[in-house]
Amino acid sequence: MTTPVSSTSETPTYDSLLAGITDPGGREVLDPATGEVVGRVADRSADDLDRAVAAARAAQPAWAARSDADRVGLLLRAADAVEAAAEPLAELLSREQGKPLNGPNARFEVGACAAWLRATAATELPGGTVVDDEDTHAELHYRPVGVVGAIGPWNWPMMITVWQVAPALRMGNTVVVKPSEYTPLSVLALVHVLTSVLPADVLTAVAGGREVGARLSSHPGVDKLVFTGSTATGQAIIRSSADTVKRLTLELGGNDAGIVLPDVDPRAIAQDLFWGAFINTGQTCAALKRLYVHTDVYDEVCAALVEVAQAMPMGRGLDEQNVLGPLQNRAQYEIVARLVDAARDAGAKILVGGDPDPDAAGHFYPTTIVADVEDANPLVAEEQFGPALPVVRYDDLDQAVAMANGLDVGLGASVWSSDRDAARAVAARLEAGTVWINSHGGVHPMIPFGGVKKSGYGLEFGVEGLKAVAVPQVING
Ligand code: NAD
Repeated sequence: MTTPVSSTSETPTYDSLLAGITDPGGREVLDPATGEVVGRVADRSADDLDRAVAAARAAQPAWAARSDADRVGLLLRAADAVEAAAEPLAELLSREQGKPLNGPNARFEVGACAAWLRATAATELPGGTVVDDEDTHAELHYRPVGVVGAIGPWNWPMMITVWQVAPALRMGNTVVVKPSEYTPLSVLALVHVLTSVLPADVLTAVAGGREVGARLSSHPGVDKLVFTGSTATGQAIIRSSADTVKRLTLELGGNDAGIVLPDVDPRAIAQDLFWGAFINTGQTCAALKRLYVHTDVYDEVCAALVEVAQAMPMGRGLDEQNVLGPLQNRAQYEIVARLVDAARDAGAKILVGGDPDPDAAGHFYPTTIVADVEDANPLVAEEQFGPALPVVRYDDLDQAVAMANGLDVGLGASVWSSDRDAARAVAARLEAGTVWINSHGGVHPMIPFGGVKKSGYGLEFGVEGLKAVAVPQVING
């Protein structure tokens, strides 16, 4: 089979895209910036999920039987379809998630979806001969796992869906996606666009709550689960997947540390430090969430960060000038507010922010930088997942490394220095899946990404990402 079942439909408008996914009788989904209704979603039941899994199982053998070149071609067409729908997708994402259209936000996220689809199509995972001598000939091949379940969070709903889905499809699996209950429309819209070029039942999204996620992670018809979300949910998924011995990739929470060495030029690094921490208004798994700065440059780094922070407009995402938005939901707003208050109560200095407008219509928490805060303070020790950055002073590098490694999570970390070798030496001592030097949080479709400790296990992206959604098979003889 070489042709897809349907061809790319005409370029959708915002209204036509929304009409394709919204359910008039469904639950209201509200814009976190204004409280307005964005659309209505039909939350599905565990029975609906069972039907989707059964359909995915039925479709999987034919999908796996297609040639790899055929699947590559469909991923490339899916990327074209995302690009053709880029503006309405970005608008919906901005309205539902809250992130601005501009800056490293909604348009950037939709662009990343197309880029990851193309990069996944371009990545090869060849099998090969592992032993070939007079007695033995053994080859290693990568086969599809079968049906892959994908459960995602609300912070980068479209991009993370593509991260989970594209490699799985490439390797010949069919996929059932369970979006976050906070951002279902973004994922339904993306999947609607992707399925315009894919055969029926190869990719399905089932909106629903935790019980639907729990059913997916215990489902006997699902062979592998790719989960991105909090550590607590990841732990629940490990437990509920035990009976089926389901393979898992777990991309969990983080509380990334950055260490600034005394040789930096504070003004030169301030912009990159800022975006490392405040990308997506701080609602990013691998964002810089606690910054350790050497005492020699502490005041200058803080002052430079405050200057950058004050220049970054926050507001409704659809207003083109904004680069920071609201928290996506009230629960996250309350967490950020509680943690900043805890720091203030302990005597920390709020350099900027920390004073939300109680009458604001949306969940806006101002960009907040907190100095003179102790490492043990909850604002440092807990994942705040919002626009608040604690800056901790250190004067001994070993102490900084110990503080950076002192938590039970390890997604990303960064070291900032004008001496690359010195920075790399520190990087090697940090317990994190990725350590960036003079930047924080950048991801690339060919560079493996994943956490250590309670930030999870398994890798996404590149060749390692393809291996993660395949099963190795040895042919010996
Ligand atoms: P969450 O764990 O609350 O929810 C994530 C998803 O899990 C949702 O779709 C939810 O419905 C589902 N779910 C909830 N309970 C479940 C259960 N018992 N079984 C199966 N599914 C269940 O996470 P969130 O609040 O949406 O996302 C924020 C968290 O995600 C942060 O901790 C952040 O660091 C993390 N995150 C990690 C990465 C990464 O790549 N490591 C990326 C983005 C976000």
